[in-house]
Amino acid sequence: MDKALARAWLWAFAMAVEEGEARLTALDSAIGDGDHGVNMRRGMLHVRRLLLKDEPPGTVGELLGMTGLLLRDHVGGAAGVLYGSTFQAMGAALPVHRAGVAQLTAALEAGLATVVRLGAAVPGDKTIFDAFAPAVAAFRDASTAGGDLRAAVTAAAEAAEAGARSTVPMQARKGRASYLGYRSIGHLDPGAASTEMLFRSLADEVTQGPLRPADGRDLPDVVNESSSAGK
Ligand code: ADP
Ligand code: MG
Repeated sequence: MDKALARAWLWAFAMAVEEGEARLTALDSAIGDGDHGVNMRRGMLHVRRLLLKDEPPGTVGELLGMTGLLLRDHVGGAAGVLYGSTFQAMGAALPVHRAGVAQLTAALEAGLATVVRLGAAVPGDKTIFDAFAPAVAAFRDASTAGGDLRAAVTAAAEAAEAGARSTVPMQARKGRASYLGYRSIGHLDPGAASTEMLFRSLADEVTQGPLRPADGRDLPDVVNESSSAGK
């Protein structure tokens, strides 16, 4: 991954969140407080603004780290801290201009470790972890089997999708959804759904790219009125 791919990935994720905002809101309304869609959209609008700068940060890691900072500052909710810190951890693991599959594996593992350190989720808790962990495992397996980036991101996206789907029958044991007890069963976890978008965006960019930050120079005004996040 070079910086062009990292930018394309972040842009594609932002667009996926933009298009999926209503879905994330509906999912979070069913078992949470309904803010996941609007929160993620607001955070990713700030990231899009960063991507449109003429000189975004130097290394792949700096770009991901800046992204993490913006998400921490502007997303709010549990997801703001989790996504923000996870991007910061991945960024810290990539102080390079170009990363190979092995180094990306290590970065994703650092991101996952941060999810676990902050959220203490275990498999089956119905959280981001249930999509993120299988995605990282699939990425690592593809890498150790000698697969290239295309193979690794494709496997990771499929695993994230299956992982997100697997949260439907789970009873939430972490986060706001856990207050619902057994009534959280039967709903897809919103954080797992956005995590699926994250890995799907990467796979799409690697296999079908380039979708470069070119369209959408007109960012909605919400970028400028967003500092009310961070609750
Ligand atoms: P809230 O509104 O509850 O503060 P968000 O709506 O921002 O949080 O995000 C909700 C998502 O956060 C959940 O769907 C879940 O995936 C994720 N989440 C909550 N708690 C944890 C945790 N301890 N570990 C991992 N993910 C978590
Ligand atoms: Mg919420």
